Formats: sequence, C-alpha cells, structure tokens
Amino acid sequence: MSAIVFRNFNCYYKNKKQYIKVLSNINFEVTEGEFLVVIGESGSGKSTLLKACLGLADYFDGELFVDGEPIESIDLKSGKFAYVRQDIALYPNFTVYENIAFPLRIMKTSQAEVDRRVKEIADIIGMSLFLTRKPRQLSGGQQQRVAIGRALIKNPTFIFFDEPFSNVDPTLRAGFRKLIKDIHKQYNSTIVFVTHDIDEAFSLAERIVVLEEGCITEIGAPKELRVNGKSDLIRTYLRKPLIEQRVDE
Ligand code: ADP
Ligand code: MG
Repeated sequence: MSAIVFRNFNCYYKNKKQYIKVLSNINFEVTEGEFLVVIGESGSGKSTLLKACLGLADYFDGELFVDGEPIESIDLKSGKFAYVRQDIALYPNFTVYENIAFPLRIMKTSQAEVDRRVKEIADIIGMSLFLTRKPRQLSGGQQQRVAIGRALIKNPTFIFFDEPFSNVDPTLRAGFRKLIKDIHKQYNSTIVFVTHDIDEAFSLAERIVVLEEGCITEIGAPKELRVNGKSDLIRTYLRKPLIEQRVDE
C-alpha cells in the first residue's frame, strides 16, 4: 500500500496579496515502510514538501494522501507521526529521561510503561548511561540523539526528518546514519528524510527524489541514479570524486 501519495500537488506561500509557488506539479508515492530521501539545494522546497506531509502547508492545491486519508483530515496528535528537525529544543530543566518520556507523560501513561519504553529507546539511541543528565551537560550530537528518542517514544508509523544532522559534527555523522538505519529496521516505519547532503542521501535512501526549484527532476534508487542519473545535481556529485582524485595525484 502507498503510505503517501502526491497527485498534481502545488504549494504556495502568500506575500502581500500574491501567491508564490514553492512546489510545482508534485507527483509521486511513498510505499509503506520505505526509506525515501528528498535531496535538493537550499531553497528548492524540501522543508515545504515535508511540512505538507504533516498537514502544515499554508496554501496548496492538488491531492495529498497520507496513510490513506486526505491530508486535510489527518490527526497529527495521533502519535503516528514523528517530526525531527535540526533545531529541536530539549526542555532544559528536564533530565534526558524526562525529555524522552515527555510525550508519554502527556498521555498519562503508567510509570511502569514509561520506564520500560524510555529504557528501550535510550538503548537504541545510545544514551542509556546519560538518563539523569540535563541537556546542558550533553554534546550537540547527544542532544540530537535525545531529540530523536523523544520523537520515537510513541512508536510512530511515519518519521519525517528535516536535515537533522546539519548541526552535528561531520565526524559523528556516520554514527547517526547507522542509528537512523537501525531505527528504520526496528520500527518498520515509513521514513521521509530531507537533506542537501548527497553523500547522506546515497548512503541512507532506498529511493531518492531530486528536487530542483520546486520541481521533481528525478526519482530512483541510488543504484539507478548512479548509472542513469540525469539531473545536474546528481551528475555533478558523481563527477566530484574523480576531480578530487586528480588534484591529489
Ligand atoms: P529548503 O528546505 O529546500 O531550503 P524551503 O521549502 O524552506 O526550501 O523553501 C523553498 C522556497 O520557498 C525558499 O525560497 C523559501 O524562501 C520560500 N518560502 C517558503 N515558505 C515561505 C514563506 N512562508 N515566506 C517566504 N518565503 C517562503
Ligand atoms: Mg529546509
């Protein structure tokens, strides 16, 4: 089954009295359980596309179905959806444990269940030894792990990542990619991951959507794009290692 379906979808924002188009004629589907990466330069419309899937588009026309329902009738609070951005703020006065537990506290989940879930999640995100710390006692990378943990605590069926590692030290990114892959395996969730980092896209994606100036110029599995990719973004990237090699010689 298709988890997400875009049909002739356009998205706009309003400037004074004018509607300005950000996404143009978007047509594609995300399969249930798929790991899809949207790649594009800054300003290409990636965040707008992701927010549309969460029902956060300002103005749009065309059709968008998420989990079989038109986006207009989606209940974001159902816990089915997790949204992870680079700039998620943790609660500074809460411990790591309470930050992760927070969504369950709101649902008045029993303490035994909270404890079981937080420990399970802390293990996945590699933060078991830090549960009593406050956010200011953590590195940026550790804080982002906690933010991911908090997003996972309700067992979401959909996880939307918007450039979650932009602020993470480049040396730690490989560890984060592995974490995200493990999460995908373990939760079987449908993942849409937005990035401008093509390395990241090729290493994570089952399928890549290339977004250029609000239009999809290409969709394919990393393998296909390596061979048949035609967009400037992909071709330029694939040529790069060769040029770097030549400089090194
Ligand atoms: P990306 O995430 O790929 O960097 P965005 O989806 O954030 O791109 O934005 C795409 C384009 O639309 C950008 O040029 C951005 O400035 C513009 N844009 C989107 N929403 C608004 C808005 N509410 N007001 C002004 N400009 C907007
Ligand atoms: Mg963005």
